[in-house]
Amino acid sequence: MEQVKVFLNESDMPTQWYNILADLPTPMKPPLHPGTGQPVGPEDLAPIFPMKLIEQEVSPERWIDIPEEVLGIYKIWRPTPLYRARRLEKSLNAPVRIYYKNEGVSPPGSHKPNTAVAQAYYNKISGTKRIATETGAGQWGSALAFACNFFGIECRVYMVKVSYHQKPYRRLMMEAWGANCVASPSSDTNAGRKILEQNPDSPGSLGIAISEAIEDAVSSGGDSKYSLGSVLNHVLLHQTIIGLEAQKQMDMLNEYPDVVIGCAGGGSNFAGLCLPYVRDKIGGKQVQIIGAEPTSCPTMTRGPFAYDFGDTLQTTPLLAMYTLGHDFIPAPIHAGGLRYHGMAPIISHLVHEGLVEARAYDNLRTFEAGVQWARTEGFIPAPETNHALACILDVAGQAKEEGKEKVILVNWSGHGIVDLMAYDAYFSGKLTDYKLPDEEIERALEAIKNFPPAE
Ligand SMILES: *Cc1c(COP(=O)(O)O)cnc(C)c1O
Repeated sequence: MEQVKVFLNESDMPTQWYNILADLPTPMKPPLHPGTGQPVGPEDLAPIFPMKLIEQEVSPERWIDIPEEVLGIYKIWRPTPLYRARRLEKSLNAPVRIYYKNEGVSPPGSHKPNTAVAQAYYNKISGTKRIATETGAGQWGSALAFACNFFGIECRVYMVKVSYHQKPYRRLMMEAWGANCVASPSSDTNAGRKILEQNPDSPGSLGIAISEAIEDAVSSGGDSKYSLGSVLNHVLLHQTIIGLEAQKQMDMLNEYPDVVIGCAGGGSNFAGLCLPYVRDKIGGKQVQIIGAEPTSCPTMTRGPFAYDFGDTLQTTPLLAMYTLGHDFIPAPIHAGGLRYHGMAPIISHLVHEGLVEARAYDNLRTFEAGVQWARTEGFIPAPETNHALACILDVAGQAKEEGKEKVILVNWSGHGIVDLMAYDAYFSGKLTDYKLPDEEIERALEAIKNFPPAE
């Protein structure tokens, strides 16, 4: 079997990121100040982010130059290869051609350093000496640790407690790159202490860890900042290098996807691949774009489109997004990176406008897909990535039923070598499906019932 794999030359690597805000057919709902109910201005965000990133958050420019220093570090692992999954295709016996962008080749093992490096750079040139952040499964913490190391910035990571204990290897990666990692909720912040008082055994959540990291950055003085690994516009912007490279690679193969797929936690890797294709779709191209999420944290498929806080302790601006409510704490399934209560406002807007669709997959089904992938394509996927792979199987099954040929493009967001304990749980039958009861969603939505409507 001929292996189809496309490498871009370094000289063909994109030198600009793509900003979808320039092309949206309808404008997005602005973030609101929770106190005044008015749109937030740059000055509201200045204590936590450097001004360069705040400018990118609201920039109307379609193309934004990637700084030389960032391109230089990207070149450690970029451009990433695009593969055709021939062996998986063969095992499916469906009329599909499947291509995947391998973002697992970065040193931290996922797409996350695409934005971590950019954020560390803009912080560096703005005089930041120290960055605090949160991490779920540890991928973001390790990506930011990797990036801060290159720019001599001190990095402190609040890691969701359940993952901190399940995934010591990620913490060790952070330490190898020189960062300091603590389990969240911690007793180092008011936010952490408050949660621990209510529930000393709290497994933690991304929402809680975000609150701790923001409090840490704001209370540590002017040269400390906060950094977010997903959700925000500037993060999605930095990830678009994935889709821009993929478009060049698909062109080299004379292919155009019928379906573009990514797994969606906060929405950044999915956005990174799909936004350049959303641009094509707005311009009239036929392309189906699907975000795959877990049934245990079904933000887009079961949450309302509403204004909500990005964090549990209500410190962020109110964002218009699909949300399960800011005090939603998902069941501790292993796909830690998909356990966020909200969804990127850009992705939420696109879902609401019908340009992007969402599907949810059960835990067991995603691991089944991941194992099938490992046994055909060889690479062992991250548990998050498995959701996108379950979606491939779903789409391939449909294509077979309809007898319609389909070209599928997927973002292979990261490898699972540091997540093998999740595979252990699956192989030993300890992993279960978890269908979120309606009552739990209703309870969580109580927390936002008095917020301004987003529709
Ligand atoms: C963090 C992570 C995700 C989920 O985050 P998004 O912001 O939705 O991309 C998905 N896959 C991998 C491998 C991750 O590390």
